[in-house]
Amino acid sequence: MTESVDALVERTSAFVRGRVIPLEQDPRWGGHGPSPELVEELRSAAGAADLVAPHLARSGRAALSMRDTARLFRAAGYSPLGPVALNIAAPDEGNMHLLERVANDAQKAERLVPLARGEARSVFLMTEPDNGAGSDPSLLKTRAERAPGGWRISGRKWLITGATGARFAIIMAATEAGATMFLSEMNRDEIVIERVLDTLDSALPGGHAVISLNGLFVADADVLGEVGQGLRYAQIRLAPARLTHCMRWTGAAQRAHDIAARYACERMAFGKPLIDHEGVGFMLADNLIDLKTAELLTDWCAEILDAGARGSQESSMAKVAVSEALYRVADRCVQILGGLGVTRDTIVERVFRELRAFRIYDGPSEVHRWSIANKIKRDIAAQR
Ligand SMILES: Cc1cc2nc3c(=O)[nH]c(=O)nc-3n(C[C@H](O)[C@H](O)[C@H](O)COP(=O)(O)OP(=O)(O)OC[C@H]3O[C@@H](n4cnc5c(N)ncnc54)[C@H](O)[C@@H]3O)c2cc1C
Repeated sequence: MTESVDALVERTSAFVRGRVIPLEQDPRWGGHGPSPELVEELRSAAGAADLVAPHLARSGRAALSMRDTARLFRAAGYSPLGPVALNIAAPDEGNMHLLERVANDAQKAERLVPLARGEARSVFLMTEPDNGAGSDPSLLKTRAERAPGGWRISGRKWLITGATGARFAIIMAATEAGATMFLSEMNRDEIVIERVLDTLDSALPGGHAVISLNGLFVADADVLGEVGQGLRYAQIRLAPARLTHCMRWTGAAQRAHDIAARYACERMAFGKPLIDHEGVGFMLADNLIDLKTAELLTDWCAEILDAGARGSQESSMAKVAVSEALYRVADRCVQILGGLGVTRDTIVERVFRELRAFRIYDGPSEVHRWSIANKIKRDIAAQR
């Protein structure tokens, strides 16, 4: 019998509460993310529960719609380690989506299958140091030059999530025909992880690295899609990837809220529980308003993607509103918990730091607002 989405979400929620949350205080979760051993432990628990990448097609069940995926990912995100356990975390989840859409059959067999099974991790190499590609991808400095049978790629990348321990990379490099995506194994001498950065966030395995590509040879068979179409493929990856971040982090912000709400109902100050002080009660009320706004905007955009639209502007709107709303939620939770809020004795401190970073990756808020404003200008010009 096929499992209903309700049952799958319920099972995911029980798994995260029963198996993942107890590991949140594990010392193997460090500043550069959970260690390989901890990831392995989480993954095998998810495997035993048949919860590895559960949004993808299974025998007897099609892949979930984005709308149903939203429910599942919110349940998984209730712990920041939940998405890692279920193999639905960035960047792998976005890379799976990209490979599904753009890779040929041989590339899917070699890279997508082990990725979806949780047997391999991947990285997405786009952003560059030294005034290269960032908010503006047209500043791409990494170059791919023609070589017999393939290409040679040289350049530097940074902020690359999950580089340490990843099996393969999707690399964006400039060619004469325009930006192009290439696939490469990571264990190549010409790929050097210079260092892993110390960052605010710490939920993802491998942290975020600076990488140099020193004349890396990539065969023609490892060009992803067509030469010159890299920026278009980046858009294919970005809209759903932004939205799945919104889903996972809504779960985490809900968790922070639940902890703060319980604290506010139990902790006494000036003769009554904190929640009965209007300053605290209103913060909790605002949390619920922000959480519901996040959920509804995500579901709205998910429906647009399910209908087959690209959803660029809608996902920009959702990403800005959700990342900022969830950051407000986490910030209020820290405040409500007082001194406890800044300690790592609850998960709230980690959620707060994760949500600060979310306002920057997959497009900073200002870049999304700027692109929405450009669209408004174009629409008005078209009416003249
Ligand atoms: C935790 C984390 C993980 C990441 N993982 C990856 C990864 O795996 N792979 C990868 O390739 N990259 C990754 N990145 C990089 C991320 O995509 C970039 O940081 C992001 O695109 C912004 O680029 P930048 O850092 O170069 O900022 P810049 O381009 O230098 O922009 C700095 C600031 O300028 C402002 N700004 C820029 N353009 C405009 C505009 N048009 N209007 C108004 N203001 C503007 C914004 O406030 C922006 O925050 C990650 C980043 C973080 C923080």
